[in-house]
Amino acid sequence: MLPLQYLKGIGPKRAELLGKLGLETVDDLLFYFPRKWEDRRLDAKPENLPFIEKITVLKGRIVLVKDLYASGRLRIFKTVVDTGAFKAEVSWFKRHSPRFDVFGLLRKDLKEGAEVWVVGEPEDPLFKTRLRGEEYYLDGDAAARLNHIARLIPVYPLTAGLSSKFMREISRKALEERAGAAGDFMPAGSLAKRGLLDRVSALRALHFPANGFQLTAARRRFIYEELFLMVLAWALKRRQTLRALKGFSYEIKKHLLTPFKERLGFEFTSDQKRAINSIFSDMRSASPMARLLEGDVGSGKTVVALSALLLAVENGGQGVFLAPTEILAEQHYLTFHKFLDGLKVNFALLTSSVRPKEKQKIIERLAAGEIDILIGTHSALEEGVKFKNLRLTVIDEQHRFGVRQRAALRLKGDKADMLVMTATPIPRTLFLALYGDLELSVLKEMPPGRQPVKTELAGEDRAFEIVREELLKGRQAYIVYPVIEEDGARGLKSVKEQFTRLKGIFKNSCVDMLHGRLPSELKKKIMDDFVSGKSGVLVATQVIEVGIDVPNATVMVINNAENYGLASLHQLRGRVGRGKHGGKCLLVTGSAVTKDGSLRLDALRSCASGFELSEKDIYMRGAGDIMGLRQHGDMDFKIADLSRDAELLEAAIADREELLHADPDLRAPQNAGLRRKLIELYGKKWDLIDLS
Ligand code: ADP
Ligand code: MG
Repeated sequence: MLPLQYLKGIGPKRAELLGKLGLETVDDLLFYFPRKWEDRRLDAKPENLPFIEKITVLKGRIVLVKDLYASGRLRIFKTVVDTGAFKAEVSWFKRHSPRFDVFGLLRKDLKEGAEVWVVGEPEDPLFKTRLRGEEYYLDGDAAARLNHIARLIPVYPLTAGLSSKFMREISRKALEERAGAAGDFMPAGSLAKRGLLDRVSALRALHFPANGFQLTAARRRFIYEELFLMVLAWALKRRQTLRALKGFSYEIKKHLLTPFKERLGFEFTSDQKRAINSIFSDMRSASPMARLLEGDVGSGKTVVALSALLLAVENGGQGVFLAPTEILAEQHYLTFHKFLDGLKVNFALLTSSVRPKEKQKIIERLAAGEIDILIGTHSALEEGVKFKNLRLTVIDEQHRFGVRQRAALRLKGDKADMLVMTATPIPRTLFLALYGDLELSVLKEMPPGRQPVKTELAGEDRAFEIVREELLKGRQAYIVYPVIEEDGARGLKSVKEQFTRLKGIFKNSCVDMLHGRLPSELKKKIMDDFVSGKSGVLVATQVIEVGIDVPNATVMVINNAENYGLASLHQLRGRVGRGKHGGKCLLVTGSAVTKDGSLRLDALRSCASGFELSEKDIYMRGAGDIMGLRQHGDMDFKIADLSRDAELLEAAIADREELLHADPDLRAPQNAGLRRKLIELYGKKWDLIDLS
């Protein structure tokens, strides 16, 4: 590994700055991908590629030079460049210095008669005749033609103290020194089949493409590479799980499952039955379960999870049920009471608001095996909680957790079964990318008797009128605002401010406020009051987005609805329509609704099913946020973008299957490089032990 200082022009100081960008070696620099490209060709036809930016470049002869003082200490160096077609005034600005001539270099280079290239910012975007100069190059300068002008040039993410020009120069040097050594580890057959560039050519073309066509090809190659490595890692991770042995076996005894079913008061839907069957058969198999249960909001995932937990308990094991928020964990705890009181099952709730003494007791009883099921938030688990015999981990609303966290949980119960659940339906490609190591069960069908939630656009007055009508009938309402505190800049309404106002508007009802910054104790009390019907209106932020189940709540008012992603809107809407009374979702918009915003609201109104919504393009554009893709860092792609590159992802998956069929353990000599790369990227990160 060559350290960066090996390259000419990089001393200790610059090496340190480059270190800030995460660059330590020459190879790091080679794979430091441009963020976009600038088109600095004079006569280029626009190529209409979103990652190429057209900028203003002139070539001509300097015909006039003037050095001026402007107001104060500002100095201006004015040049007039004759391009043959027109004359342009190009001005260069500097702060005056009493110690040296700030325009020394310009005065030397930009003499009258000199032939130059100028890159600048037009003062009026329509005309190129008055520019603020940014860079210039003398026409005879061969190196400039290589890296800076008359071509497409790369634009890298920067840090203070490093210039774009410098980055281009060292990137070129890195290419000259090391590009040849960037051997290709990708299966040659797949590359040929997909018509993809070899790695070395792709690398050169990615930094300094000859044209947009070449650049597109280079990008494709690296997008494919990135996705291929990921889906291959998923497949290996999954196989690793399948090859592990749990070392114990289950029997379906039914001494808990039967009374539980009797107590439910409803029949499982056929989707629920199917999911439970798959889960039970996973649990009875020799290798650990790794399954995702995907079901639209309100489809009844909790009782499926409960069935699985009871199977574990019937067999003398322990289970843990994890929720992403305290509010949700509390809710689940109440549900457990509802369905399990009277059965021989011990369960406990552990969140960060449980008092230390109580917590200590729970921890001891867990270790002694006296608690069968622990319900908690993720954070509650991280602090030295040990089980005697953990057999099943259920993670609710999985989209909030990442693979790494999932792996960490696995360590809690060696080879325990794992069931993860999500109410965010995702397109197939995204499932394969995000949960490539999991089996899938889907609840499509809703429990009987559900009426679809009526979704309408409404003015605030109309929305509040409907809230009032429902309150009169004894129902409850959520009123959601996008931010906790006033945010004048974006013109968004806030929970805190509106709460005061709404107390006045709904004088005859109890109005409460819920948001993430309240102390846990208070959050719990407010939620309890709403669940029990003590309060009628809950003014809240998106904290109530996941999981909350209050069947008596029938109205959801979403303010500044244009601001939410489609997935979030659907989740929020899913809070109502959970009981026999039906539900209404009222979308109140602000004054500035973008085109995308109104597309989302239209989609939401016309479509009741999360599965259908998730196939829509506009869903995907916002899905990255709700699914926490950025949050949990599994998807920190360098160049791929799943909402755009689905087709390459499919290709990568097909090619992966072919490869693993031919060489299941990547032991063939031609795959040695590939195996090394996988270990480097995913060995530690995903605990891929089979490879080493
Ligand atoms: P989600 O899948 O969104 O987590 P829940 O598990 O909270 O949904 O279930 C929503 C509501 O539907 C709960 O009140 C639950 O008791 C009820 N429910 C679940 N399954 C059925 C069923 N088969 N028939 C009737 N009601 C059901
Ligand atoms: Mg749920």
